[in-house]
Amino acid sequence: MTHPQPRPGLREIEPYAAPQLDVKARLNTNECPYPLPEAFRDELAEAVRGLTLNRYPDREALELRTAIAGLNDHDVEGTWVANGSNEILQQLLQAYGGPGRRVVLFEPTYAMHERIAWVTDSLVVHVPLEPPWRIGAVDMVHKHHEGHPAVVMICSPNNPTGNAQDPHIIGAAAELVPSELFIVDEAYIEFGGESMAPLVRRFPNIVVVRTFSKAFALAGARIGYCLASPQVVEDLRRVRLPYHLSALTQAAGLVALRHREDALAILDAVREQRDRILAALPRLSVQAFPSDANFVLFRPPGDAAAVWQALLDRGVLVRDFTSAIPGALRVTAGTPEEVDLFLSALEEVLA
Ligand code: PMP
Repeated sequence: MTHPQPRPGLREIEPYAAPQLDVKARLNTNECPYPLPEAFRDELAEAVRGLTLNRYPDREALELRTAIAGLNDHDVEGTWVANGSNEILQQLLQAYGGPGRRVVLFEPTYAMHERIAWVTDSLVVHVPLEPPWRIGAVDMVHKHHEGHPAVVMICSPNNPTGNAQDPHIIGAAAELVPSELFIVDEAYIEFGGESMAPLVRRFPNIVVVRTFSKAFALAGARIGYCLASPQVVEDLRRVRLPYHLSALTQAAGLVALRHREDALAILDAVREQRDRILAALPRLSVQAFPSDANFVLFRPPGDAAAVWQALLDRGVLVRDFTSAIPGALRVTAGTPEEVDLFLSALEEVLA
């Protein structure tokens, strides 16, 4: 019997998925460890009750975009929202990548960048980085050896390495080649590093992509946005599906923005736990890479994959990056109790 065949290569890739396990400390997907307060839930319930779900939602999500634009001192025409920053990234590559068009990735970086490039049939140009994982002017030149790219992806602070990139390098590169679109993924910018958002006003070829999933404690709602030039947003409107952002999501985003202060109040607590991890790891003879984000990349001595399993056996789930970065694991800064558990489990495993 013959079966329908998918596009060539599809079955050679695995669905992108991090384990979702019911363990004591889930420190593998960089979520915020604290939920938003009760008042947020009450307001959200109230807002949902008032929705007219028999009608399509506002396909331009204008109220939410206006609120996001206002908070970022950006124009609404250059502000766009979608289902998580992943969907923003996908729409950007649908519009600016595509068959025969090159997308530069500085690696190691967030693996979905390469996946979305593949899904949109774009050509990937890999530019490798070494510790301390900074993109320098030389790396920017290096990308041109592969021919002129249509898109350059930058992740700052970078996942999984944790370091932020220098806006001067990115701004200078964007100024030099106005025909290339520079996508700056700032999923973790609230935790540290210098935002490239001020560059967007000067360079219409820079787009800053952000998310409600991390610092806004709203990974379950799936909301991402970008700050760009009005022209870029016009192009995103050409590829987006009609009514892509549900009325429920738009309502959740608006309520979350009203509780922005609650979310931002959590940031210090998360940074404190990150810094605790950074200080504790070297004492266990573990190499820790500096981090501007809410996670830490680290290299335990010995077999890192075995350490990952031994941590899991003790109820601590971290992320195994050994296939991308030899010997490396990544841990999310959780609650003080979760970090206690992580550090004591690691100490036991390494003893
Ligand atoms: N960018 C980076 C660098 C990330 O780490 C993540 C989540 N792991 C995302 C984007 C996607 O986040 P979301 O789709 O939840 O906004």
